[in-house]
Amino acid sequence: MADLLLASPDRGPICDRLALGHRPDAAGVCGHPAHADLPERHPCSLVRLVTLVERLGRARDAA
Ligand SMILES: [Zn+2]
Repeated sequence: MADLLLASPDRGPICDRLALGHRPDAAGVCGHPAHADLPERHPCSLVRLVTLVERLGRARDAA
């Protein structure tokens, strides 16, 4: 998944859209409905994936 995102020329907008709504609630749990059945602490796995892809992309673009 990270490789696919990294290879996409639309990486930035896709990452922004993926992370949309993944914010912590007052208890520090990600409030996105995707986690309704299995709550995750924020940053959730999806936000961590997007953060990783953004960091790898910036490093690659700078090289
Ligand atoms: Zn989330």
